[in-house]
Amino acid sequence: MPQRLLVEADLTWTDSAFERGLQVLIEPDGRVGSVGAGLGRPDVALAGRALLPGMVNAHSHAFQRGLRGLGERYSRGPGSFWTWREGMYGLACSMDEQTMYDLSRQAYREMLEAGITAVGEFHYLHHGATGRGFALDEPVLRAAAEAGIRIVLLECLYRGGGVGGPLQEAQRRFSCTPGELWAQLDRLAAMLDWHTQALGVAAHSIRAVAPDEIADLHAEAARRGMVFHMHVEEQRREIEDCVAALGEPPMAVLNRGLRVDGRFTAVHCTHTAPADADAFGAAGGNACICPLTEAALGDGIPDLRRLRSAGASICLGTDSNGRIDLVEEMRWLEYAQRLKLEQRGVLTDEDGRSAAALLRAATLGGARSLGLCSGRIAPGHDADFLTLDLSAPCLGGWTDQTLLESFVFGGGEEAIAGVCVGGSWRERQDRT
Ligand SMILES: [Zn+2]
Repeated sequence: MPQRLLVEADLTWTDSAFERGLQVLIEPDGRVGSVGAGLGRPDVALAGRALLPGMVNAHSHAFQRGLRGLGERYSRGPGSFWTWREGMYGLACSMDEQTMYDLSRQAYREMLEAGITAVGEFHYLHHGATGRGFALDEPVLRAAAEAGIRIVLLECLYRGGGVGGPLQEAQRRFSCTPGELWAQLDRLAAMLDWHTQALGVAAHSIRAVAPDEIADLHAEAARRGMVFHMHVEEQRREIEDCVAALGEPPMAVLNRGLRVDGRFTAVHCTHTAPADADAFGAAGGNACICPLTEAALGDGIPDLRRLRSAGASICLGTDSNGRIDLVEEMRWLEYAQRLKLEQRGVLTDEDGRSAAALLRAATLGGARSLGLCSGRIAPGHDADFLTLDLSAPCLGGWTDQTLLESFVFGGGEEAIAGVCVGGSWRERQDRT
């Protein structure tokens, strides 16, 4: 972006409310310089729009976009996570560099259309048919750059098939040694666009990596200042297998063996026991919930209240990308709890507001999980925004005081007018 840009929308979200008359100065480095009233004559007047922080998708497997429309027929009786996984492995085994690029670009374009400006790509499908060489890593970064989304590529270690078990055939495409992973991270670092791309580290799950290797990987990631992600306790069988092999559930293994902090994100936490949630929250970990995927796979519903009260930071992910709409994820984060507990307003902020708490999970929560300085319209933060079309039918009847609730509980990606990523603006395709 060549020059400073002063923008003014009808309404601007300031963490707690929409305000009128605010201007946002975007610096040439793609960050917010200042926010306030009367900064000058705006270069861009966003008439009929509201300006919000861009949403952060903390957990995605972009290639699984290729499964959309599949796997919803059950001629042999009810399915499960494990039967779904067989279909996913079929897709994984068919992938090459071109399909990885095409599916990733498709997913990232849809994310931008849906107001998502940053994605944490939990990337474990590294290899093509040869089962080595990391040929499927670089296409993901290239797809993100082409789409224009900010990405944190979470390079994932995958070693075994089941707790202590050998690799299955399909899992050969995921597998590498820790040494190979770190060497690959160094190669990838040399090809990043540091304005919009960063690297993190992941251990796939307790099913795929032994506890001592998880601890070593996490310690090295911490030494390098990188965020660390891991699937944790999505399925009861994972917990049963872990207890049988190691004597305790995965989250207990992690709490005891790792120095968990704000750079650690446990994805799912669907069946985490209360005491383990308490220890994880007290350490300041992030819990990434993916309500639509967890519903689609029949995983279960996490104990969100326990995780939050213990101190865990909540964020959201579109995970399998069967549907890409973080507003819908926000809504179902809360609705699943309401259905489970037969209560309303389970996830609220300090003022008892549900929509504001959900937006915080979808912005600041995701940014914390990915180590990004975004999720807030404030000086020094990335100029990553979304704009709402205030004339969108789904928002009809809004007031300054109810707009956020109209958006979160009555709207969705159809209300998004455009996004800005690091100062680069992009209008939604069907509105230009
Ligand atoms: Zn996942």
